[in-house]
Amino acid sequence: MKKSYKIEVDCANCASKMEEAAKKTDGVKDAVVNFMALKMNVEFEDGADPKEVMPRVLAGCKKVEDDCEIFI
Ligand SMILES: [Zn+2]
Repeated sequence: MKKSYKIEVDCANCASKMEEAAKKTDGVKDAVVNFMALKMNVEFEDGADPKEVMPRVLAGCKKVEDDCEIFI
């Protein structure tokens, strides 16, 4: 399953840090951040529940960049 989320982040460097953090989150198969569009596209593992996974993605992203936001 794939979903797209609106994000807030100040620069392309932090956007790529968010992408790395999202990719490392359990339940996430792949994640791509588009800084120009301020979007994060997340592909979830089979059986993963986005409602359960995304708060952990957000927590992981906040750890590497406390100024970021994901609108989940
Ligand atoms: Zn930055």
